[in-house]
Amino acid sequence: MLDLSPARLEELGVAALALDFDGVLAPHGAGRPLPVVEDWLQRMVGLYGADRLFILSNRPEASRLAWFSEKLPGVRVVTGVRKKPYCDGLLIVGELAAVPLASILMVDDRLLTGCLAAVRAGSQPYYVRAPFIDLRQKTRSELFFMLLRWGERLLVGLLP
Ligand SMILES: [Mg+2]
Repeated sequence: MLDLSPARLEELGVAALALDFDGVLAPHGAGRPLPVVEDWLQRMVGLYGADRLFILSNRPEASRLAWFSEKLPGVRVVTGVRKKPYCDGLLIVGELAAVPLASILMVDDRLLTGCLAAVRAGSQPYYVRAPFIDLRQKTRSELFFMLLRWGERLLVGLLP
């Protein structure tokens, strides 16, 4: 995800970003993005403006909302919508950002939640194949999600 450069984003015609949290901004269950991701987020705010950046996580927890409102004010965490793969969150992003759904890039490490939601909404999926994981501290949940991601890739024929 950090390799998404301004040039690449322009090539894709991206006008707004919808970012998953777990695995994409930090390892699973973290309360805030990793520092290296924070730098990237700042660059994206500079590129698009905070009002074109959205966090679309199936776990919009209070600690995450608080972090964004303090550190990246203007970046909105979408809440109160049906979870991905429903595309409700992306429809809200399109309305709030006032951009065509096709110009929204949904960045997600899950094929059958975020990426599928993007396809259903007519937005663009960006599959994060190498998500952030923390096997030491969250061994069980990370192993579970590694298995889940592997199963998804198997299902859609994206293996190895
Ligand atoms: Mg995720």
